[in-house]
Amino acid sequence: MSDSKWRLLQVFLSSGKEPAVFEVEFHTVEGSLRCTCPGFRVRKRCVHVDDVQAVLDVNGGEYPLELDRSVTREQVRAAERSERAQRDLILRHGKTRSVGARR
Ligand SMILES: [Zn+2]
Repeated sequence: MSDSKWRLLQVFLSSGKEPAVFEVEFHTVEGSLRCTCPGFRVRKRCVHVDDVQAVLDVNGGEYPLELDRSVTREQVRAAERSERAQRDLILRHGKTRSVGARR
């Protein structure tokens, strides 16, 4: 997580038997995605990355962050400037998603 070119976009709740949280990050230079789930580590692809990619495709490369209503405009602005602030914002205020193990 030390590479500041990676931006957290979305947190997923695992739908498997073991509760888990996976993070999908976007590389701001290469435009690639990565995920912290075990499937991505093995296959370099997973349902989470596919899900985020589908949202990016629909929105012309933008990822609309879903945040709760307590977020201030200042927090959003800070997140645009800093990878750390964005990560903080999403972990605290972002809506988690979940996808089925198979689609
Ligand atoms: Zn994944």
